Amino acid sequence: MPVLRLVLFLVCISFSSITAEPIVSLSSTNVKPGSTIKIHLKNRTPLQTCILQFDRKNLTLFPTDARNDQFDGYIGIPRFLTPGTYTLSVITQTQTSLPEKIEIPITVQDGKFPYSHITLIGTKKTLFEKEDLLSNESKQIEKIFNTLTPKLYISESFIKPAPGKISTGFGAYRIYNQQKETQRHAGIDIVNKINCPIMASNTGKVVFAQSLQTHGNTIIIDHGWGILSIYNHLNAILVSPNQTVKVGERIGLMGSTGLSTGTHVHWGISVQGTRVDPSPWITSTVLYNP
Ligand SMILES: [Zn+2]
Repeated sequence: MPVLRLVLFLVCISFSSITAEPIVSLSSTNVKPGSTIKIHLKNRTPLQTCILQFDRKNLTLFPTDARNDQFDGYIGIPRFLTPGTYTLSVITQTQTSLPEKIEIPITVQDGKFPYSHITLIGTKKTLFEKEDLLSNESKQIEKIFNTLTPKLYISESFIKPAPGKISTGFGAYRIYNQQKETQRHAGIDIVNKINCPIMASNTGKVVFAQSLQTHGNTIIIDHGWGILSIYNHLNAILVSPNQTVKVGERIGLMGSTGLSTGTHVHWGISVQGTRVDPSPWITSTVLYNP
């Protein structure tokens, strides 16, 4: 059973086993649902295995040097998690040693997400009632969000993909047509005028550019390391799959296609299949620190 020592320096919190190897640094251990934690792992000798486990899910860390003794990656905290303490397990093994497991407690606070009521009428209401269609599109998107590209395309922080006011933030409880069942907002909605240019929020490769009935005209960009961004309800798509885009490059025009009640872009970020709040990716100097 490894004994942990805790070292606090600047914004990073470091953990290591009793053998002082590996040393694991986290950007935070006290977070809200929808947060992203940056993780760095350093070992004196090359590692053969380096796996993370959080909330019953295996996550990948990526080697950042040729010796395989330094790894980096991100952990997305699901928006559905109830407040409490959760365990992050870090499992490592060298060619000659037994597997080593470090367990790090992660405190998840109450997100205090607001409620948002939406009334759908006419064709939008009919579309919303096609549950299978909505579910199939969501599954198609989730499958793409599990893309794990070892190359990291980004070299700077994310940008907001369009200017404008945020009408609904991340994690908000969504109630459609007074129904009892609530949904949770998986991104942020930015409101502006029809055909307002939508920019790539960071550098990456377009992996999806297609018209969907409920999600509207949709673009997904792969930024590498399991980080992908999505743009929904566009009036026009200006890019094609496999196209490489730079941060700030025009990729589409704002609209209200699919299940949308007003002109906006729904912008989301996924980290290894977990939808996270995109806002800290713009403002935090910790999440992407070249
Ligand atoms: Zn939205």
